[in-house]
Amino acid sequence: MSFKDIVGQEKAIKILKKSVQENRISSSYIFVGNKGVGKKITALEFYKAMNCLNINKNNEACDNCEVCSKINRQCCPDLKIIKPIKDLIKIEQIRELRKDIEIKPFENKKEIYIIDQADQMTLEASNCLLKTIEEPPDYVVIILICLKLDPLLLTIISRCQIINFRLISSLQIKKLLLNKINNLKEERAELISKLAQGSIGKSFSLLSDKEYFNQREKLLEHLATIFPGKYDPHIFINIEKMITEIDRMEETLEIIISWYRDILMIKKLGTQKNIINSDKLEVISEISRNYPLKILMDILDYSEQIQEYLKKNVNKHLVLERLYLKMVGLEYCLK
Ligand SMILES: [Zn+2]
Repeated sequence: MSFKDIVGQEKAIKILKKSVQENRISSSYIFVGNKGVGKKITALEFYKAMNCLNINKNNEACDNCEVCSKINRQCCPDLKIIKPIKDLIKIEQIRELRKDIEIKPFENKKEIYIIDQADQMTLEASNCLLKTIEEPPDYVVIILICLKLDPLLLTIISRCQIINFRLISSLQIKKLLLNKINNLKEERAELISKLAQGSIGKSFSLLSDKEYFNQREKLLEHLATIFPGKYDPHIFINIEKMITEIDRMEETLEIIISWYRDILMIKKLGTQKNIINSDKLEVISEISRNYPLKILMDILDYSEQIQEYLKKNVNKHLVLERLYLKMVGLEYCLK
C-alpha cells in the first residue's frame, strides 16, 4: 500500500506529500470527510512517508523498509491510535496521550497520535487535548479524524491544518471493485458502487452483506406500492415495522432517501445517469410519472430531517407516520 493506491483523494494527498517534501509537516491536522473515504489509511501512509528510510522522488514511502513494514503491521511504538470506548473518547484517554507525548520517539523521526472519531471526544477530553495542541513537542504529529468539523472546539479547529476528504465517484468505486474482486459481475459492481454513495469502505462491506440486500428488497417492494393520494394503513404499518424493528434504521432511511431522490431525478431531469437504485430503473420511471414534483421535494426534505429527530429521542411512530403522510401527499393536499 502506498499513496498511489488511495483512490479519489488526490488533492488531500498532494498537500500532504508537499509538506513531506518541504519538510514542513504541521504538528496537528484534522482529516475531515465521510465514512470510508480513506482518511485513516491516508494518515498511516502520511506517517510512513514522514519516516520511511527509502522514500522515492515522488514522496511515496517504499513500503519495504523496516519502518514501513512496522507501520503496515501497526506494531510501531511511535504510532498510537486512540478510539472511542463505548462511543466516547474520555479525558482519561487524552491524559494518557499527554503523558505519552512527553517521551521522545523510540525509533522514528516523528511520533504520531491518530485520534479516530475525534468528534466523539467529551468536552473535558477536548479541553485537555487543546493544551497539547497549543504547545506540541516538535517530534509529535497529531491527526484528528472526523466526519464533520462542527462537533470540535473552535479553539482546536483553529490550531490544526484541515485536510478535506471528498466522496469518491461511483465510477472510481466501480473500477476499484472490478479490479480487486474476482468474478464480480459488472451490474453488481455498478449497483454497489452507487449504493455506497461515495464511500469505498461501505462498498466493500456491502459486497458480503446479504441482510442489507434482503431488507432493501423488502423495503423497496413496499415503497413501490405507495402512490400519491392513496392512504393505506396496512402499508404504513408494514413500513413502520420495517424501519423500527431492524437495528439499521439509519441505513433504511438512506434507502428511502435514495429511492425518492431517484424518482425526483427521473422526473425533473429525465436522465438515468445518476440513478442510485440502478436495478429498479423500470419501476422508478413508472412511479415518477405519478408523483408531483412538490410532493417529492417534501418527502426528501422531511426524510433528511428525520435522522436528526430520531437522535433526539422523539416519538418514532409520529415521525414515521408524518413521513408516510408525505409519501402519499396528504399533507401537501391539506396545505
Ligand atoms: Zn519505507
